Amino acid sequence: MKQTPFYHYDLELLDRTLQAIKAAIGSHSNYHVHYAIKANANPMVLERICKAGFGVDCVSGGEVDAALKAGFAPEKIVFAGVGKADWEIELALKAGIFCFNVESEPELEVISQMASEMGKQATIALRVNPNVDAHTHANITTGLAENKFGINIELLPALVKRAQSMPGIKLDGLHFHIGSQILQMDVFETLAYRINQLLDQLSLEGFRPTHINVGGGLGIDYENPEENPIPDFAGYFETLSKHLNLGAGQQLHSELGRSVVAQCGRLITKVLYVKKGTVKQFVIVDAGMTDLVRPAMYGSHHKIVNISSTGPEEKYDVVGPICESSDVFDKDIMLAETHRGDYLAILSAGAYGEIMASQYNLRKLPGSSSTLE
Ligand SMILES: *Cc1c(COP(=O)(O)O)cnc(C)c1O
Repeated sequence: MKQTPFYHYDLELLDRTLQAIKAAIGSHSNYHVHYAIKANANPMVLERICKAGFGVDCVSGGEVDAALKAGFAPEKIVFAGVGKADWEIELALKAGIFCFNVESEPELEVISQMASEMGKQATIALRVNPNVDAHTHANITTGLAENKFGINIELLPALVKRAQSMPGIKLDGLHFHIGSQILQMDVFETLAYRINQLLDQLSLEGFRPTHINVGGGLGIDYENPEENPIPDFAGYFETLSKHLNLGAGQQLHSELGRSVVAQCGRLITKVLYVKKGTVKQFVIVDAGMTDLVRPAMYGSHHKIVNISSTGPEEKYDVVGPICESSDVFDKDIMLAETHRGDYLAILSAGAYGEIMASQYNLRKLPGSSSTLE
């Protein structure tokens, strides 16, 4: 076994997932997927996604840079984010990316001015906050009026006019992203209806966007990852195609992140100690919240399996070594009888796992591999 903790990526499953997305898109030649690179930017993973022909969705200059270095074509890069710094805008303008997803009027002005100075026109979409409840964890909900993201829907018509009058701006689309880990398809249906309404309203005012970007957010099965490794892409694209009224030539863009990579990654960790308390048994592992922060940060649940033992199951809390009470992977779970030196796999960790690792407690960053040896 490699030095633990490390992320183990099943690239064959990643390939099957990418094929499933393509199959779900089918003959919709006006559908374009930009992989949300913030979910996982491991070079092995990016290589497969790039090779499969996907575009990429970035939320920072560093991500734009990483996407270009991984070989993604600039004309398939979209760039979102509420706080784009000048250097990030400049980098993206120079690269000639497909689209800036703009989140405020002052940002629009800065992009217009910088593009004009470079003798360019920036293609942009306005990110609309559609006030749709994603019915997901509060920390990963982004499409409510109270969230910092996007442009309030009532303020949009005026901003469309402003954008159309700016010399450095080519207003091309509308962008939406309402949250993450969305499993109820009726949430996407509601989003589609909201977009339809908005398109009707804007069309009366003479604006017809060339492209609609519905963002990402499709969820995955954290409870039964082994039985259900590939998310419901067919249901997702069917919901959009059935309920979103696109006109002739109008393009649909989507920014799937988690659903593309979550199931192909697992965190492999070694058991340091099994400690018996008065009411609990603790499995203390060498991975911590610095390697996988989701349980501590979002209270999220990852299935854990002991890949070394087949003994009878017992109840354990699985905890990391970090000096924080929240450094707990799961409580009261059943694992095959566990001993020092066993290896545990924390499943469904391919998205928002490795990329969020930190060096808190001066720890080493986790490694990664497509094999166990
Ligand atoms: C995070 C993010 C995504 C991806 O979300 P997932 O839930 O991982 O699919 C897409 N678009 C934007 C703008 C994002 O910030």
